[in-house]
Amino acid sequence: MISIEGAKEMKFEDKVALITGGASGIGYCTVKSMAELGADVLIADINVEAGEKAATELKAKGLKAEFVRLDVTDKANIARVKEHVLATRGRLDILCNVAGWGHIQPFVDNDDAFIAKVMSLNLTGPIELIRAFFPLMIEKKTGKIVNVASDAGRVGSLGESVYSAAKGGLISFSKALAREGARYNINVNAICPGPTDTPLLKSEPEKFLEAFLKVIPMRRFGQPQEVADSIVFMASNRADYITGQVLSVNGGITMVG
Ligand code: NAD
Repeated sequence: MISIEGAKEMKFEDKVALITGGASGIGYCTVKSMAELGADVLIADINVEAGEKAATELKAKGLKAEFVRLDVTDKANIARVKEHVLATRGRLDILCNVAGWGHIQPFVDNDDAFIAKVMSLNLTGPIELIRAFFPLMIEKKTGKIVNVASDAGRVGSLGESVYSAAKGGLISFSKALAREGARYNINVNAICPGPTDTPLLKSEPEKFLEAFLKVIPMRRFGQPQEVADSIVFMASNRADYITGQVLSVNGGITMVG
């Protein structure tokens, strides 16, 4: 009898996962899929109403989900969430940094507040969150960290100079930390969505959306679930030997070696 190892299922029972930006778009699809696969999921988001609604819906289906209010740009808030996770679960197995934000505009129009927001939401916030939970993962000698960056961070995107810098920084940080985490069985990977059909993309002017469609070889936007599927895979036992990698999910808009 031939054993097909690759056919093993992804296992999330007994795993505690925290997903930032879990109230909307790619983050919400990630939350839903991981909860359906058996994880105990903390939906960490600044949007209280949408986060509570998501948690209530999942709990009504008998799944393990809790909303925690988190502003990833606020270190004190991160510390409170860490205390809550420790007090209620005593561990964190999976951390997905999905929350992020950007806006297309010429570089010269970026003011101090805009630059600070883009850098903290997409780079320093995720770094601080990992800084809070990495020691716990080292202690347990296991962990999966998935950082949602962007193709902008791989190739540089027109009108998104600061966002590209922040996401590029997140990619480099993920690779470097993967080297450090490997000896503790902590995997660190980055997922790079291309233009994906979420409220974030839809907040951009129609002319940019049309321009994106023209350069995507598959001639359609990604669905948030398609990106979430890769995040869930990277966070699963099926990706135990994958670390320091960058995976684009983008209909072929970039093909980075
Ligand atoms: P979205 O706007 O649908 O969801 C983002 C979520 O993050 C929201 O629930 C929002 O409330 C939350 N959030 C915002 N600020 C926060 C904060 N300070 N603290 C905690 N949560 C906060 O966006 P999305 O399209 O699903 O984006 C998810 C990730 O994918 C982001 O990192 C984004 O940069 C990246 N991305 C998206 C696209 C795209 O086209 N949608 C492309 C490339 C990369």
